[in-house]
Amino acid sequence: MKALVLEEYKKLVYKDVPDPVIASNEVLVRVKACGICGSDVHGFDGSTGRRIPPVIMGHEASGIIVRTGADVRNWKEGDRVTFDSTVYQLDDWFTLQGKYNLSENREVLGVSPGTYRRNGAFAEYVAIPQHILYRIPDSVSYEKAAMVEAIAVALHAVNLSGIKPGQSCLVAGAGMIGVFIIRILHLSGASKIIALDISKSHLSNAEKSGADLALNPGEGNVIEKIMEFTGNRGADISFEAVGIGETVNLAVDSVIKGGTVVLVGNVSPKIDFPLQKVVTRELRIQGSCAIRGEYEAVLEMIERGKIKVDDQISKVAPLSEGALWFDKLYYKKEDLNKVILVP
Ligand SMILES: [Zn+2]
Repeated sequence: MKALVLEEYKKLVYKDVPDPVIASNEVLVRVKACGICGSDVHGFDGSTGRRIPPVIMGHEASGIIVRTGADVRNWKEGDRVTFDSTVYQLDDWFTLQGKYNLSENREVLGVSPGTYRRNGAFAEYVAIPQHILYRIPDSVSYEKAAMVEAIAVALHAVNLSGIKPGQSCLVAGAGMIGVFIIRILHLSGASKIIALDISKSHLSNAEKSGADLALNPGEGNVIEKIMEFTGNRGADISFEAVGIGETVNLAVDSVIKGGTVVLVGNVSPKIDFPLQKVVTRELRIQGSCAIRGEYEAVLEMIERGKIKVDDQISKVAPLSEGALWFDKLYYKKEDLNKVILVP
């Protein structure tokens, strides 16, 4: 099959590789669409250490089943599917507690952090265990289904925040995940949504998605403006969707005493942590990792038109042009939201 292989850092090659071999509990999926994730772009240069070459990246995908292993039940050739980005063990202790996203020895599709290498969906075919498959409703396109993973990450973070209608929220970082957090907060009845980002286009995207106030932390004192907007107390809940020290600090500084900070971004392995502010203001710090079964809800939200997705797809391009699109995203040559590659 053809695949887009990360042969060395910053070097993607579209080439022939052997077809994946499926285990008895797996299906072979002919990939129809696979989105380029921010984590792929950050992994591409080696900075995150999670895409050690050679590896086929790609974990935001959809396709059609073309073969099933001997032990596969409930799935057949021709089924339109999307799948979890996390491949987890069914007999793991955490999985049995309903927390498969925290299970031991889980693997992420298209990731190779050194302890494993799991090829992903920037390829014509990918092998997927049956227990992480989700059926795509007939009216949802493969391209839209490739957006489900990003929205599910956002929904998981909002679910963990415990938001109640009427609460005020801040989202630091209005990239893809941040924008979907804003859309879901809007659906959840947030009274006020504040977005922070240094990119003009991200801020206007945030406003179109339901943010009431969109601020650039590079321009003036944003904390002052946030306090003014929230009755001088701060937002009830802040979400951090970048993963660097500056934005974590903004998320902490802009939340109300006793409030909740949900950390989603994790580009930096370590940051300077504002310990005294967190302790003396009794903040609740909540990490949010990947997804825990939110796929079905998101597919239904898309099917029923509750959440808009197509406006976030900037480009659908052939997989053979993958290197070119990674280049544009990495060097920020164009203002792009999601780029979807089609094998
Ligand atoms: Zn992703």
